[in-house]
Amino acid sequence: MNRRTLLQTTAITTLGLIMSSAPKSFATEPELEAQELQLTGLITNNHGHVFTTLTLTQTILILQQIHKDSEKPSLVSIKGTSGHDHILELTTSLLLELLTLGQIETVTQPGANHTHPVMLQLAEI
Ligand SMILES: [Zn+2]
Repeated sequence: MNRRTLLQTTAITTLGLIMSSAPKSFATEPELEAQELQLTGLITNNHGHVFTTLTLTQTILILQQIHKDSEKPSLVSIKGTSGHDHILELTTSLLLELLTLGQIETVTQPGANHTHPVMLQLAEI
């Protein structure tokens, strides 16, 4: 094998290794097809309260902000058109469980002497 042939063989072998180790495209895997998700909140016994839908990106940014902020929970108002407010406490463990399981039930802080269970769900847009 002369030097030129050796170089060609090496180049072809290297290319073959790169191609065989390249990750498969997700698009060819039906079970991994990308779907746009958003975070919705279903409020039980609701009277005018509104959970403002968050994009998945906003949800992840909130998670990162909590982490940056020494794990101080993110406080979300669901007042809506009701005469009183309730606060939802979003913590790292709550959001991680939500991202892992796709949904999680939590309870608002009290307002006007009651609370509301809220089902947080990652749903396709
Ligand atoms: Zn209420």
